[in-house]
Amino acid sequence: MSDFDSALRPESRIVHPPVPEVTGSRPMGVPLHQSHLFAFEDNDALTRAFAGPDEAFLYNRYGNPTVRSLEQAVAGLEGGAGAIATASGMGAINTVLLALLSSGDHVIAQRSLYGGTFAMLADLARRWGVEVTHVGGDDPEEVRAALRPNTRLLHLETISNPTTRVTDLPGLIGVAREAGVLSVVDNTFATPLLCRPIEHGADIVVHSATKYLGGHSDVLAGIAVFADPELHRTVWHYAVELGASADPHSAWLTLRGLQTLALRVRRHCESARELAGRLAGHPAVTGVHYPGLPAHPDHELARRLLPEGHGGVLAFDLAGGREAARAFTESVRLASLAPSLGGVHTLVLHPASTSHRQLDDAELAAAGIGPGTVRVAVGIEHPEDLWADLEQALAKA
Ligand code: PLP
Repeated sequence: MSDFDSALRPESRIVHPPVPEVTGSRPMGVPLHQSHLFAFEDNDALTRAFAGPDEAFLYNRYGNPTVRSLEQAVAGLEGGAGAIATASGMGAINTVLLALLSSGDHVIAQRSLYGGTFAMLADLARRWGVEVTHVGGDDPEEVRAALRPNTRLLHLETISNPTTRVTDLPGLIGVAREAGVLSVVDNTFATPLLCRPIEHGADIVVHSATKYLGGHSDVLAGIAVFADPELHRTVWHYAVELGASADPHSAWLTLRGLQTLALRVRRHCESARELAGRLAGHPAVTGVHYPGLPAHPDHELARRLLPEGHGGVLAFDLAGGREAARAFTESVRLASLAPSLGGVHTLVLHPASTSHRQLDDAELAAAGIGPGTVRVAVGIEHPEDLWADLEQALAKA
């Protein structure tokens, strides 16, 4: 203890506990820097710290070492130059949209978007004068026809929810690139282990890290990864103003989950493929949506775009319609009736009455969602136990 410290009264000393520096060894776990503030010795260094994402840490809206560890880890996995971790997936999506769009700009977005993104784009159109055109995920010419002189962004999702259609990322992004339009891909369903959109020309990749990256249903987080360091810097400046930054503890939980991502994703994919095949042969089931099945409309595209596996989400249609779906989702015992996906637990959901309840019957039909469609976000339990659970619930449907 220095002379200065030992002269302090207890009331002052307890406010300033020692913060040991780690020297001579290194921590194996990523340290949790649960401090929103960093102090400087040198005022010029503090001034410089405000300038950009690679400067010294000063205040968590600007950056934090634990959060930076997550940003660098996911940027590395996605093949990006930098990343911004946020408080949720919607935080990442909205940070990107709000940083890059001005009123009068035009966005081309996929029709089958996550509901929160769809609603945000509708709000930007209604209140902020942003024009939005929705397109399918399989036809580059539809994107070309939708282009306008003021088109600024193309917003896509690698795999659609809940019908697991696979988007022709190279085709659609190629058209956007030719026109100088930035592409944003929500890669939540695929994870960077199954698909890396930047390799297909995307400028920005966003994730709900709440899902597979965190993977344990215990953290809400998001991340946006940028192919280009200048674009990263531009959005970072806006992110600092918006204030959607990830909390260090959330980043720490996400990092902890990320370390087992490869093992979990392999299990999610294998179990989903197995269950999809068995469901396809069940008499109560009239259709199964899983890109790993040869009958899926995007099976060939999925084999090229997702060669390592087709994800952990599947959907199936029950012959008995809405009532059968209710009976099924209320009868599962190992699986749980809950929204979300990507965690270790298997979850079931009836999209028409929950995640997609805002769509009318015609819109549901256009999205491929029937009254008896059930989504299964397959977890990492033993696949035989899962099948036994689904089978007993199917018997009640
Ligand atoms: N994108 C996709 C594909 C999602 O499924 C979700 C949430 O379900 C989100 C974004 C939003 O993520 P969050 O709930 O972390 O804000």
